[in-house]
Amino acid sequence: MRKQIIAGNWKMNNDLAQTMALITDLKKQKQTSNAEVMIAPAFTNLNNAFEALGNDNIEVVAQNMHFAQNGAYTGEISAQMLRSVGVQTVILGHSERRAYFGETDELLTQKTNAALENEMRVIFCFGEELGDRKSGDHFNIVESQIKNALFHLSESAWSKIVLAYEPVWAIGTGETASPNQAQEMHAFIRNAIQKKYNENVSQNVSILYGGSVKPSNAKEIFSNPDVDGGLIGGAALNADDFFAIVNAF
Ligand code: PEP
Repeated sequence: MRKQIIAGNWKMNNDLAQTMALITDLKKQKQTSNAEVMIAPAFTNLNNAFEALGNDNIEVVAQNMHFAQNGAYTGEISAQMLRSVGVQTVILGHSERRAYFGETDELLTQKTNAALENEMRVIFCFGEELGDRKSGDHFNIVESQIKNALFHLSESAWSKIVLAYEPVWAIGTGETASPNQAQEMHAFIRNAIQKKYNENVSQNVSILYGGSVKPSNAKEIFSNPDVDGGLIGGAALNADDFFAIVNAF
């Protein structure tokens, strides 16, 4: 049975003191849903976030990583380093990484392989740009992003993959895909996985939606049968808003 997941991507927000303050607020929240809850603070604050959360149900995850285990890659962070502070899940392929840091399908294949070799779970992000949707190319774009980076994986590797469909035009813009647009794309993705693999893989993979999810629209988006949760940006920076989304199932 696939899991419901809400992951907060803090991006390049919150220094150490702000991270601790937000975690203090998050720990006061009451969870009424069964969703798995994750937060992705900056690399510099991962260790402190783990210590501050202790046995809390909130998992601390990373926003990115390099594909190499170590070596001459100034400024980069490896899977091994993440594992050494307790991180078990990493977000890969976020549209900001693709757009501002030139991350390609090939690079994301290498990163995904490295994460899996280190027994990490991957939240793999993808999604079309506005021009692709306007030209009607969005299904092809999304299918090729998944195919190019993930369809070499074995069936068993998919137990470590979570998908996050994030239409680029909806990220941080206040514009959200309609519940129908989200459901239509999620069903398309699940069907593509079923064709490549089988019913078991396609039914067990969680597919999150990301793009301006807020307390006011979360319930409607999550009520779709193929939407298994959300990757949340802006609204994850406020504990009340984030937990309103966590509890929207
Ligand atoms: C994101 O960055 O993954 C995201 C979905 O951001 P926002 O919720 O702010 O649109």
